[in-house]
Amino acid sequence: MPKKYHVHTKATPLDLDYIFKFQIVRRENCINCGKCTKVCIYEAHKRRIDDPRKMADPNTVVCRNCFRCIQECPRGALEKSLNKDFLNIGGAYWKADMLLTLWKQAEDGKVPVTGAGYRGPFTGTGFDSMWTDMSEIVRPTRDGIHGREYISTSVELGRKLNHLEFGENGRLLSTIPRTIDLPLPVIFDLPEAGLSLNVKAAMIKAAVDLGTCIVLPVAQITADFERSLDNLIPCLAPGEIERHQALLEKARMVAIDYSGERPEDFPAVKARIENVCEALTILRLPAVEAMEQTVSKLAHSGAEIIHVIADYRGRELGGSSTSTPRLIKDIIRTVHMRLVADRIRDEVTIIASGGIAMAEHVPKAMLCGADLTAVDLPLLIAIGARLYEQPERFLVFPPGLEGISVEILTQRIVNLMGAWHSQLLEVMGAMGIREARRLRGETGRAIFFEEIDNDTFGKLFRKKEVASI
Ligand code: SF4
Ligand code: SF4
Repeated sequence: MPKKYHVHTKATPLDLDYIFKFQIVRRENCINCGKCTKVCIYEAHKRRIDDPRKMADPNTVVCRNCFRCIQECPRGALEKSLNKDFLNIGGAYWKADMLLTLWKQAEDGKVPVTGAGYRGPFTGTGFDSMWTDMSEIVRPTRDGIHGREYISTSVELGRKLNHLEFGENGRLLSTIPRTIDLPLPVIFDLPEAGLSLNVKAAMIKAAVDLGTCIVLPVAQITADFERSLDNLIPCLAPGEIERHQALLEKARMVAIDYSGERPEDFPAVKARIENVCEALTILRLPAVEAMEQTVSKLAHSGAEIIHVIADYRGRELGGSSTSTPRLIKDIIRTVHMRLVADRIRDEVTIIASGGIAMAEHVPKAMLCGADLTAVDLPLLIAIGARLYEQPERFLVFPPGLEGISVEILTQRIVNLMGAWHSQLLEVMGAMGIREARRLRGETGRAIFFEEIDNDTFGKLFRKKEVASI
């Protein structure tokens, strides 16, 4: 049995100014009896240190919304109310509850339990319109996550051969291309500009601790960070390759940014990279209309790894000339199916990013056809950032963040990924899939709401429309 991949999580609260969904308020009719200190097992209620006769303000950070203190207060002095600031964070895609979930995951590394008593909708847009087939959850031997059957979450990056060629006497003629194994189907994407040094250092250290990689602009890879070069993916424009030869020679992977240029020159760029280093090349492509044709062309020209990048809400960049912009799940499916039709899918690795906001988006993106995903904003939310979508995307970092130790910030990112890893194991265990790489393109194990809606009601309503004309 292979050595088990384990993420070491540890409760790591941040003493920062969070926004919580509910706030507990102690009203003036409190008689300081202290009963709430006894009934709250999370210690949200304490007496004041400077004057123990009086109660301190409730600590909403640790509150788990059990309502016990409210029910048991003899004076009805405690009130739990919806925090108005909470309703303003996030937006239509990054819902406020998502941010809260990410904060909690970063705090304790545990899988949040939200299934019991769920009263929300069962479908939505994007990944929310996908359900996974968890029929194996009822299998009595479903014990993968509990230790007897190993579930591997590792994925392989790089070019693979379509077939092997053998010569006389069974001698292997094919040259096996180099690949890189990552224990988690997630890499960290380019961090925001202007992050403080401790945040950047924490992101790198978390990538090292988790055994994954982080894409960093080549200019930001200072001598301090070079120690972690095995886990860094220098990102640069095609024109910068030779200038950074010394660094690229030591890197395992290099990311070429094609956000501003068209990748027609890829074969020449590939030759230049091979001339300076042996690193695997990731081509970063914006997810634009009809990008599947570009991906197909690049795969045929020998691209090893292609990174499809949608906007932060998982939508096609630059809009669409004929319809509403596609969402990342549909973009990945189209790219995957195009490569399958070209009989080249197994040869190339596809990374998907943009709108990967929750743990379940990782297996869902893989079911749609990605080999792995790249995350960016969830890492910042893990360290306490608030994201707003309106009036336009902006992030608010907690005051005092630059003074927090690298160790604490690292642990919060590790916790977040630990929670995502546990959820990936849950999904795979329930689906009866033992290897993450087998999730890729398994659309037969997923249900897409738009498709069943169309299959069930499409004909009916189309007929009605025709009849009414
Ligand atoms: S139980 Fe009620 S009255 Fe007693 S200290 Fe707590 S809030 Fe005050
Ligand atoms: S609602 Fe429950 S967890 Fe929250 S403060 Fe009251 S007793 Fe503690």
